[in-house]
Amino acid sequence: MSVFTNAMQQLDRATTFARLDPFTLERMHRPERIIDVEFPVVMDDGTVKFFHGYRVQWNDARGPFKGGIRFHSQVEMDEVKALAFWMTIKCAVVNIPYGGGKGGVTVDPKKLSKSELERLTRAFTRAIADVIGSDKDVPAPDVNTNPEIMDWLADEYAHALGHQDLAVVTGKSLAHGGSEGRGTATGQGAFYVFEAYRSALNLGASLRIAVQGFGNAGQSIADLLQRAGHKIVALSDSNGAIFSKEGIDIQAAKKYKAKKGVLAGFPGSESKTQEELLTCDCDVLVPSALENQLTASIAPNVKAKLILEIANGPTTPEADIEFFKRRITVVPDVLANAGGVATSYFEWVQNKKQEHWSEPEVFEKLERLMAEASKAVRQTAGKYQVTERQAAFILAIERVAEAERARNQIEVSAN
Ligand code: NAD
Repeated sequence: MSVFTNAMQQLDRATTFARLDPFTLERMHRPERIIDVEFPVVMDDGTVKFFHGYRVQWNDARGPFKGGIRFHSQVEMDEVKALAFWMTIKCAVVNIPYGGGKGGVTVDPKKLSKSELERLTRAFTRAIADVIGSDKDVPAPDVNTNPEIMDWLADEYAHALGHQDLAVVTGKSLAHGGSEGRGTATGQGAFYVFEAYRSALNLGASLRIAVQGFGNAGQSIADLLQRAGHKIVALSDSNGAIFSKEGIDIQAAKKYKAKKGVLAGFPGSESKTQEELLTCDCDVLVPSALENQLTASIAPNVKAKLILEIANGPTTPEADIEFFKRRITVVPDVLANAGGVATSYFEWVQNKKQEHWSEPEVFEKLERLMAEASKAVRQTAGKYQVTERQAAFILAIERVAEAERARNQIEVSAN
């Protein structure tokens, strides 16, 4: 099943409960605008190469389109459309005043020199300059893009515009209008969601946790969970998993991974396969690596009582059904990993108001926002007797529908 088909099926499942008017239902199945550009870049050897870039603007009923830009050799339209749709849902779940969008360039950035990468970013920015803007469409980093690339985008946009508009993009460096806390915001936000569910489900104060993926998001959530008194019994990276009943020291594991490049061989741990990590004896499983990890064949053997989806799309629809039957709570990606976009919103507000907030101020706001979103999803799940994922979709779609009704009286009432 293509990623876009999967996204539309999730929408259809949720709308059987949310009962949308026909106009909004149609609207939610279609992007508002698709931008497809071919743009030239001068390479270091003086030759000119053309690159293909996209920006999909799914829905802006609740506010400017919002979503990352990825640089990857496999970027294609279907994927960008699905991601833009999910951003619409994610922003509505955490109730920030944005719609959803996503963009990308089909390129392997590892094959470019730094100056080629900068020229490519600037050329792509010029190609989409007409359709982005701090009140129109606000990009951010995604796969293979980072604060430095966002700084180039903001600078090139300022040239096109004739003046600064720092809030045109989030995820910038601190020196160029970025927000305190953005680097660890996804893990931090996931931790607040975890705390909300831990207490609602009475899971106890000291849990055994397995974390798949030890990158940006995986490292920060593992660190926060350990500091809160839980035991990280398993960790993995793309090379394989490590396991220790006594618990893995996350600070030491970070140093080991930074030095050796892999987790394998971490002192005092046993080696395991990825599948053994996913099915190990633990209370909480935190997939923080890739999509489609929890499949129909793995789901029956999962022992965790709670799954916190930090990765985007780690659970297949078949596995979701199995978890529902087995009463395993799955906190969906659109809630669990929304701390990143929520902190992007805080960056945007700071830029707009020309303010600079301290990290504790940012995290205090983030905690409130994530706790409220978790409560709203739980209440919706209770009201409709559905899974947390269905509840998050219903909540988001109801919020988007309300905004559509408010701005489209004529079209909606005509149906
Ligand atoms: P990252 O590239 O920093 O880290 C990914 C980690 O996953 C690495 O440790 C890598 O070794 C590991 N990995 C790769 N293949 C694996 C495999 N087959 N099995 C186990 N581990 C594997 O990426 P990240 O920024 O931490 O993002 C991780 C996930 O979280 C992605 O799905 C991403 O879309 C999602 N996410 C991240 C953010 C963020 O702010 N970083 C925000 C929202 C969602």
